[in-house]
Amino acid sequence: TPTLPQPDAPRVMVVANQKGGVGKTTTAVNIAAGLAMGGLRVLVVDMDPQGNASTALGVDHEEGTTGAYEVLVDGHPLVDALQRCADIPGLWVLPATIDLAGAEVGLVATVSRETRLRSALDVFFRDFYVDYVIIDCPPSLGLLTLNALVAAKEIMIPIQCEYYALEGVTQLLRTINLVKGRLNDELTLTTVVLTMFDGRTNLSSQVADEVRTHFAREVLDTVIPRSVRVAEAPSYGQTVLTYQLASVGAQAYHKAAVEIAERGVGVH
Ligand code: ADP
Ligand code: MG
Repeated sequence: TPTLPQPDAPRVMVVANQKGGVGKTTTAVNIAAGLAMGGLRVLVVDMDPQGNASTALGVDHEEGTTGAYEVLVDGHPLVDALQRCADIPGLWVLPATIDLAGAEVGLVATVSRETRLRSALDVFFRDFYVDYVIIDCPPSLGLLTLNALVAAKEIMIPIQCEYYALEGVTQLLRTINLVKGRLNDELTLTTVVLTMFDGRTNLSSQVADEVRTHFAREVLDTVIPRSVRVAEAPSYGQTVLTYQLASVGAQAYHKAAVEIAERGVGVH
């Protein structure tokens, strides 16, 4: 039985920020791991052709492996493309291979090209229950990210505690509003995660304060510190929670996952 509260319906969360290197993938996989380790059933959808989330979760994603490309472009059933994360019970992954780089082009010729992921998830939910779907996005606002924004109900933005942290967030918010108005009325920014916080610098604290001013309700209390263990874990095909649970980075992501589960959807 789960130790974390189960939502009434699957919470579909997209982790987005079109800036690269801000901690999207790290946040997606480690929050997913934290939720699954709390006894919840979690699906990670890797929508980045780089396949970094697939790497961190230790699933096959060599070229030619059935994954997000086949689901989006060929209409392959999502349930048949899933892989189980070996180290974490209750965690499944829809992997991304480099083939997904061709999806932006492949999708142009398909019908309803923005709603392919949403349709695939709707079918999937009919015979597979999960509490959370966490979607990792590439660092761009193309068709892959658009599919993710249309499929999700909630958006989670990781913000790196660095110079120009809010740069690009304005554009992302504009995109969210466009999607909200046209393709997905339910999309709501519910969660902002401060990542790579460096307690030794004033800059990190200043950025954190600024972000808390902008997103008072959305920012998690838990801040993710910069930690070597977090950066190392993917090279072992692991999340930091399985790699070194006692590390500060793992503890922070675990707390962040608990916070997300306990806040629920109703807070906002
Ligand atoms: P994105 O998906 O937004 O491009 P990543 O999650 O891949 O960003 O993170 C970018 C880089 O920063 C990666 O090398 C990752 O290992 C590292 N990183 C992310 N979070 C942390 C952290 N809390 N401490 C140290 N390194 C981190
Ligand atoms: Mg990434």
